[in-house]
Amino acid sequence: MKKIKNVLALLADVANGLLATILAGLIVGIEPSWHFIVGIIFAMSPDLDALPELLKRGRVAASAGHNHDHREALHYPVIFILAGIIFIYLAPFWGWLFLIAVLLHFFNDFYGTGWGIPLLWPITKRRYKLLGRRANLLKSILIERGLWENLPDSEKRLRIIVSWSEAELSDYINRFGIEDWIEKYYLRLNWVSITEYIAFSIAIFLVFINFK
Ligand SMILES: [Zn+2]
Repeated sequence: MKKIKNVLALLADVANGLLATILAGLIVGIEPSWHFIVGIIFAMSPDLDALPELLKRGRVAASAGHNHDHREALHYPVIFILAGIIFIYLAPFWGWLFLIAVLLHFFNDFYGTGWGIPLLWPITKRRYKLLGRRANLLKSILIERGLWENLPDSEKRLRIIVSWSEAELSDYINRFGIEDWIEKYYLRLNWVSITEYIAFSIAIFLVFINFK
């Protein structure tokens, strides 16, 4: 059970890969089959930067005990978009598949769990996140940890876009980073897990129709 729960955090990228394959197939006019596997691999590819931490610690989490977020290594959308455009020119289906899969991955990182993405790199390394608070936890978790009460109103407020500079990020990770984010987010129902589980269900349904 301990390991199985980690799979829950991957469902969003499985959905991203499946949806990207269907969309790339529609754009280029091919009926996908085994291509779905490649779609899922492409959707997970930005998280290759989490692999060293996963191998070393057996988990991936930014917290006071491990003040380092893997997304600073590879989560630069502009690089993937440029690579995707070149890829489309060389091999249209695979290029579209790659581009859509990584864009869905970055969008998921932009609203879901974790510390946002350096959306505007190389202009700035500032992290941006959609719909959140700078104390980057669900209200229920902040209350559970006794952090909510002492939080200034400006930190409690949900914002459409939140951002942290590089220096702020390490400070916020120290104060609000949690090691057990998979349990706290994915073994419970909240708007992040519900959104990702619905996306996964829709993707599986569409693949089912595709093969019918
Ligand atoms: Zn990611």
